[in-house]
Amino acid sequence: MDQRFDVTERFAQGAQYIAGRLRTGGSERIHAVVDPATGEQVYTYRLAGAADVDDAVAAARAAFPVWAGATPGERSDAMHRFAAALGERAGELAYAESLQCGKPIKLSAEFDVPGSVDNTAFFAGAARHLEGKAAAEYSGDHTSYVRREPIGVVGSIAPWNYPLQMAAWKVLPAIAAGNTIVLKPAELTPLTSLMFAQAATEAGIPDGVVNIVTGTGPEAGEHLVGHPGVAMTSFTGSTGVGKRVAELATATVKRLHLELGGKAPFVVFDDADVEAAAHGAVAGALINSGQDCTAATRAYVQRPLYDAFVAAVADLMATVRLGDPFDPHTDLGPLISHAQRDRVAGFVERARGYATVVTGGEAPGGDLAKGAYYRPTLITGAAQDSEIVQSEIFGPVLVVLPFDSDDEGLALANDTPYGLAASAWSRDVYRTNRATREIKAGCVWINDHIPIISEMPHGGMRASGYGKDMSAYSFEEYTQVKHVMFDNTAEARKDWHRTVFGDRQT
Ligand code: NAD
Repeated sequence: MDQRFDVTERFAQGAQYIAGRLRTGGSERIHAVVDPATGEQVYTYRLAGAADVDDAVAAARAAFPVWAGATPGERSDAMHRFAAALGERAGELAYAESLQCGKPIKLSAEFDVPGSVDNTAFFAGAARHLEGKAAAEYSGDHTSYVRREPIGVVGSIAPWNYPLQMAAWKVLPAIAAGNTIVLKPAELTPLTSLMFAQAATEAGIPDGVVNIVTGTGPEAGEHLVGHPGVAMTSFTGSTGVGKRVAELATATVKRLHLELGGKAPFVVFDDADVEAAAHGAVAGALINSGQDCTAATRAYVQRPLYDAFVAAVADLMATVRLGDPFDPHTDLGPLISHAQRDRVAGFVERARGYATVVTGGEAPGGDLAKGAYYRPTLITGAAQDSEIVQSEIFGPVLVVLPFDSDDEGLALANDTPYGLAASAWSRDVYRTNRATREIKAGCVWINDHIPIISEMPHGGMRASGYGKDMSAYSFEEYTQVKHVMFDNTAEARKDWHRTVFGDRQT
């Protein structure tokens, strides 16, 4: 499942990948990658400073004419080789992802890595399939057509929860369309983004097309977003940081793609299969220790099913096995860091003042005490306007609230600022159709929660941002549209010239 290697030896040259080679960063600051399951440092590196970002942007600009000038077929071939190179490194990628994030190895090996390989294969195919309006004589006297062109250098910023998949979601549509890219992963989790870029080079993608700068948000991130040599910013992260990124990108009139936080509702109508809904809620709330922007966080359950649902969820949460991420039987690993664990615990402790913690609500002891673990937590009795219902917690915490009418359930589902993902559970197609129409979210699952696929868009509405990842929709966002118009009359004095001089000629 995983293939171990010596991280310090592999990245001895540093954690910046610029123009096809690893190098050390120029910041004053050193950062330690910590295994959150043990609290032990696994790799230390010098962070990127502004000069590294400048060099990475220069490398991406230098590579742009060649990469943008390649035929779609040439880009596609290179990206198919890229997918193969990633596939060959699957075991190492799974190991590094679990090491830096604390993810259970079955999640890294069966979800993160194959998902990223599949994404690469999808965008390799998509490179040959840009679509647009048909060329036509819309004015009668002209032939119009549309070109979709690459934008230039894309500056991308990614979070730590799915580092490999985030690198894939940001890099692949950009380079498939002929752009070049500088990606800043979260400083906590640089390893798999670096390996991703190395695989691109190994596949023959030219140096400078994919560059990685690993630094902090304020130092490397802000410099990248404000950089005059960058034409587009694509950001995935929290809504708060997204607002700051939007301000900086707007000041330099950049194309902007924002994938922000979420607080996904999970609506269970009274004709639903309660056992299926309870399984879906636990899996949807606990995947990746709840550090998933689409995680099920607020379950609204119609009154007749409420007690049975709460009991089933509590029972199922008790069966989830916390443990060593590298044990193939571990279901739930630690959170990304002790700081994140303490942040999650803070939400739960404050909720004790106004709600009931049915199960969980604590860090485990024993062998797991040194890691950033937190038990699966179920909360009931919270008011809709309380912090635990309204704020993104990003931990293994599910809140359950009852509702009476369908109107009320759907209104509650829409009652946060977010709009990333949601699910509705019912056997009645009219109810589920209504839910898909009325829930304000970029994705609505029916009788499931979480699955994603390369062919379909992932992205939000409202405070969850705009812009789509994966799918042809994402691919199009990394292109700009140019209208080309040919005169077909060959006349010196065109009919429309009468608006400037002379009268209608016919
Ligand atoms: P974060 O917003 O703290 O950081 C995200 C990235 O932004 C990191 O690389 C960070 O270094 C960088 N950053 C921080 N401050 C910056 C600044 N001032 N300028 C530029 N860059 C800056 O988020 P996080 O804690 O790493 O990740 C969790 C968040 O990401 C959650 O809110 C989650 O919902 C969101 N997320 C959203 C999606 C999605 O597709 N919508 C996917 C995954 C995660």
